[in-house]
Amino acid sequence: MEIERHEYDVVVIGAGGAGLRAAIEARQQGKRTAIVCKSLFGKAHTVMAEGGAAAAMGNVNSADNWMVHFRDTMRGGKFLNNWRMAELHAKEAPDRVWELEAWGALFDRTKDGKISQRNFGGHEYPRLAHVGDRTGLEMIRTLQQRVVALQQEDERLHGDPEAYIKVFAECTITRLLKDDGPAHGPHGAIAGAFGYRRENGRLLLFEAPAVVLATGGIGKSYVVTSNSWEYTGDGHALALLAGAKLINMEFIQFHPTGMVWPPSVRGILVTESVRGDGGVLRNSEGRRFMFDYIPEVFKKQYATTEEEADRWYTDQANNRRPPELLPRDEVARAINAEVKAGRGSPQGGVFLDVSTRLPAEEIVRRLPSMHHQFKELADVDITAEPMQVGPTCHYVMGGVEVDADTGAASVPGLFAAGEVSGGMHGSNRLGGNSLSDLLVFGRRAGAGAAAYVERLADRSAARPAVRREAVAAAQAEALAPLERSGENPYEVHHELQRTMNDLVGIIRKAGEISEALEAVQKLKERARNVGAPGGRIYNPGWHLALDLRNMLLVSECVARAALMREESRGGHTRDDFPSMSPEWRRKLLVCGASEDGSTVTVEERIQPQMRDDLLTLFDRGELEKYMTAEELADFDSLVK
Ligand code: FAD
Repeated sequence: MEIERHEYDVVVIGAGGAGLRAAIEARQQGKRTAIVCKSLFGKAHTVMAEGGAAAAMGNVNSADNWMVHFRDTMRGGKFLNNWRMAELHAKEAPDRVWELEAWGALFDRTKDGKISQRNFGGHEYPRLAHVGDRTGLEMIRTLQQRVVALQQEDERLHGDPEAYIKVFAECTITRLLKDDGPAHGPHGAIAGAFGYRRENGRLLLFEAPAVVLATGGIGKSYVVTSNSWEYTGDGHALALLAGAKLINMEFIQFHPTGMVWPPSVRGILVTESVRGDGGVLRNSEGRRFMFDYIPEVFKKQYATTEEEADRWYTDQANNRRPPELLPRDEVARAINAEVKAGRGSPQGGVFLDVSTRLPAEEIVRRLPSMHHQFKELADVDITAEPMQVGPTCHYVMGGVEVDADTGAASVPGLFAAGEVSGGMHGSNRLGGNSLSDLLVFGRRAGAGAAAYVERLADRSAARPAVRREAVAAAQAEALAPLERSGENPYEVHHELQRTMNDLVGIIRKAGEISEALEAVQKLKERARNVGAPGGRIYNPGWHLALDLRNMLLVSECVARAALMREESRGGHTRDDFPSMSPEWRRKLLVCGASEDGSTVTVEERIQPQMRDDLLTLFDRGELEKYMTAEELADFDSLVK
C-alpha cells in the first residue's frame, strides 16, 4: 500500500497555541518544519479559551511581578509544581504576551491604553490579558497570521511559501518512530512519525529527527467534559509508547463551572471570568456557600464576609478576595459537596449569578460568548437570571516529563509543550496559566528541537533513520480495525467514559479506583477486537477505534497513579485519605508503558528540592503547610 512520505527537520504534532508557537520558533531558527493537526487548522482547544492569558505585567496593579505570579502558581499547584517551569513561566509570560501584540493581537485596554488584565481564581492581582471572553480565538488568529507571514517571507526568499513551514490539517499521528540506536542513545532516537489523512485514509510517514508533541489534553476519557472530540490523550500515549515517561497523571482538573442543562450540552465550559467579574455562587437556599469552604491554607487571603468580598471588587488594596475566586479544585469540591447535601439547583448543579451583580449592558460587553452560549443552548438570559453550573472534566495537569528549559523528553529527539506536558502546574492549574504556558514553553520546545537538530548536524551524525519494520508495524496497527467486524468502538468508548467519570472522578476511593482498573483491563481486551468496517474514506468509527488505544492507556495511568497517591492534593481528592501529606508532596508518580501498551508501570520519584532563592520568596508560615520537618529545618538554616 502506498504511503505518502515527507521529510522535515522538526515535526510539530498539534496546532493549538503550543504547537503553533513551537513551529514558529523552529522555523525562525531555520529548520524545515511541519505542523500536523488532527482537526481543521485553527480548530484546537486554544481557540476555545475564554478568560485570558496570565502574565504579571502589572498593568492594572503595579504591585504585580513575576515573584508574586510564581508564588501564586506554586500555591495553586499545592507546591507539587516543577518549580523551574513555574519560574520560567512567571518570568517570561509578559514578553510572550507583548510579542503576540507585536504580531497583531488586539487585547482589551485599560483606560490609559495598556493591555487590560482581569481577575481570576488564585491570582493575587488582576493578571489575565484578555480579549473579551474570546482570548483563545485572538491568540490562534495571531499565531496563524504569524505562520502566514513567515510563509510569505519564504515565498519571497525561496519561491515556495511552504519551503520551511507547512501545515498538514486533518491528519492524525498514530505512532512515533525511532531508529534502532545505539548511535543516538541506548534506546534509539526519534526518527519520524506515522499517521493517516482523516479525509481519505491515506497513510502518511514523516521522517524527522525531532518531534514536538503539542496535542493538548485527555478530557474525552470522561463523560462530562469541557473538551471537544479530538482530546483523546494521543500525545500522552504516543510519548509513552515511544518510551518516554508521564508524570502527575493522577491530577485532573474538574472545572467548577460547566453547564449542567440541557443534557446535550452538559460539561460545556462557563468561564471563570463570570466569577472574576463579580458573579457569585449560591445554593438552593440562596446562601453564598463558598464562605463555608475556605480551607485553612487559604484563610489569610480570602474574605470571610460578603461585605468584604464585595468591597474587594472596587478596593483590592484593603480587602481580601471573594472565596468564589479560590483555586478551581476548591470550588469544584465545594459545589460537589453542596449538590450531594441536597442543596443543589433543579438540574443538579448550583446557581451562578451575575444578573444581580452587573448591569445588563456590562454583562453583554464583558461576557459576550457566555451571554450567547446560554441564550442559544439553554434559552437562559444571563443578564436576567442565574445560570446552573456544576463540575466538568477540563484539564490534565499530568503529562510528558520534560526538561524545563528545552521541553526535551527522555527519548532523544522528542519534545513536548502545552497541555500534553507535565510538571508546570503541579497538582492544580490556575486559570489563565495555560495560555501563557503554551507561549512560554511552546517557544522553548521549538527552540529545543531546533537546537537538537543543529547538534546532530554539528556532530555530522547521520540523521536517525526510520526502520522499515517499524513502518510496517505502524501500518498494520492503523489498518487493523478496518479489517475486523468486531464490536462498535463507540460502545467501548462510552463505557470507558462512564467508568472514569464515576470511579476516578472528582472524589476517589481505593475500592472504586481498583474497580475502574479492572474495568479498564476488560475494555482494553474489547478494544483489541473493535471493528470499523466501511472503508478508509472519512470513517469516524475507524478514527475512534484508533483513538481508543490512547484513551485506555492514559486512563490506566490516571487510575494507577490515583490509587498509589494516598493523600488529597489539588486535582486528586481521596475520600479515604482526605488530607495533604508533606511526605507525598516530595514525591512524583512516574508512569511508563511497554511498547505495545499492554502494561503500565508507576514508580515513585523524589522531587528535586526548590532552589534557595525561590524558596525564600515564601514565609515560613506558608511552607509549614506543605513541607516536612526536615525540609523546614533546611529552610531555617538557609534564612538564619
Ligand atoms: P490544543 O489547543 O488542545 O491543541 C491540540 C492540537 O493537537 C490540535 O490541533 C489537535 O487537532 C492536535 N492533535 C491532537 N491529537 C493529535 C494527533 N494524534 N495527531 C495530530 N494532531 C493531533 N486556559 C487558559 O489559560 N485560559 C483560558 O481562558 C482557558 N479557557 C478554556 C476554555 C475551554 C472551553 C477549554 C476547553 C480550555 C480552556 N483553557 C484555558 C485551557 C487551554 O485552552 C488549553 O489547556 C490549551 O489551549 C491547550 O493548548 P495546546 O496547544 O496544548 O493544545
